[in-house]
This record gives sequence, C-alpha cells and structure tokens, in this order.
Amino acid sequence: MFVIFLGPPGAGKGTQAHKVAEELGILHVATGDILREDVKQGSDLGLQAKSFMDRGELVPDDLVIAMIMERISRQDAVSSAVFDGFPRNISQAEALESRLADRGASVSAAVYLKVSEAALVSRLAGRWLCRECGANYHEVNHPPAQVGRCDMCGGTLYQRSDDAPETVHRRLQVFLEQTEPALEYYRQRGLLAEVPGEGPIAEVTERIIRAVSGPGL
Ligand code: AMP
Repeated sequence: MFVIFLGPPGAGKGTQAHKVAEELGILHVATGDILREDVKQGSDLGLQAKSFMDRGELVPDDLVIAMIMERISRQDAVSSAVFDGFPRNISQAEALESRLADRGASVSAAVYLKVSEAALVSRLAGRWLCRECGANYHEVNHPPAQVGRCDMCGGTLYQRSDDAPETVHRRLQVFLEQTEPALEYYRQRGLLAEVPGEGPIAEVTERIIRAVSGPGL
C-alpha cells in the first residue's frame, strides 16, 4: 500500500499524511522534513538543497529521487508508505512508479488536498512548528496552550523561513507550474482522490480515509 499526498503548500499534507499513516499503521515519509533535517545537520544533501528551499524552488530531481529511493529501500518501507510532498513533478512520479514496479508494487492512491488560495496564505502566515517533535500549530486556528511552547513535548516553536509571504508566493507558483501536471498523471491512471482540505482536521482525515479505502486498501 503506497499512498501519495499532493497539494499546494499549506494544504495540510503534513498534518493529514501523519494522521493517515498512523491510522493505517504505516510509515510516513515527508521529503520536506527529511530535507530540513539534512539542512540542520549540514550534510552534503542539506548544503546542496538549502538555497533551493530558501527560494521556494524545488530541490533538483536527482537529489530528491536518490534520497527517496534510499529511504524506501529500507525494511520499514518494503510494502507500504505514505509519501508527503513526493512526487512533486512528473519525472519524480515516473521514477517512483518504475522503482515500485521493480518490486511488483504500485501507487494505491494519490490524495489531492484542495484548499482555497486565501486559506493557504493565512494558514502559512500563522503556522508555528515544534523544533523538537515537528508538531504543527496555527496562531488562530490551533494555538498552543502556552505561546512559543509545544503542547506535546514542551519544545520551542518556530516559523519556517520559507513561510514568509514572498517565498510562499513562489511556492504556490511552483505548485501550479510543476506539481499540477503530476495531478493529471495520477488522474489519467484513475488514482487521484480529490479531497476538500478545509474544515476540522479530524473531518478532513475521515474524508481521506473514505476516499482511499477501496479494493487495493
Ligand atoms: P514541504 O515541507 O513539503 O513544504 O517542502 C519544503 C521544501 O522542500 C520545498 O519548497 C522544496 O524546496 C523542498 N522539497 C520538498 N519535497 C520536494 C520534492 N519532492 N522535490 C523537490 N523539492 C522538494
């Protein structure tokens, strides 16, 4: 079972992919999280990826594809995973399809979270993340009990530098130019599940589970 999450920045891919992976009892693989961790550690990959991420551009395919292929070759991803933020264009979709086909597997469903542009911009502008455990907050929709502190682990909250308005604008453009064609790729294969991404978090999770629960799942 391999489920993909597609959607513009701020659509809720991270939050929902985490919940769905938990519900289905499978691994959650978030390319953005892996890349941010590499940047933090100062690894070769992090050093190469940083300038693209800072500008809101996609990190080059060869780097991201190699990173994901390595990740899914490990034992915990042999038969299932939820991908969040990958693939983000057609060449990544093709690379994933061909690697899974080598193992006799395929993508089971591609979830497209649809959210209005106004909601995306407001979600990103008010988003705070925990530096320790990655939990997500929003200053209006989902504030932490104590300002600047994570409810889960007490870690410090921070705002992502690429959530600044000018970078958000570029990330939205990149979605339209490069990721939308990948939606079509999955639509043509009958795998695209379009899910309204606005409303209470638990309701959106239920919609997704309903949308992806079919013969293959
Ligand atoms: P995210 O956390 O998914 O919003 O990703 C943050 C940033 O990481 C993106 O704006 C890209 O610069 C980079 N990134 C994440 N996933 C990918 C991907 N599949 N391909 C290329 N770049 C990516």
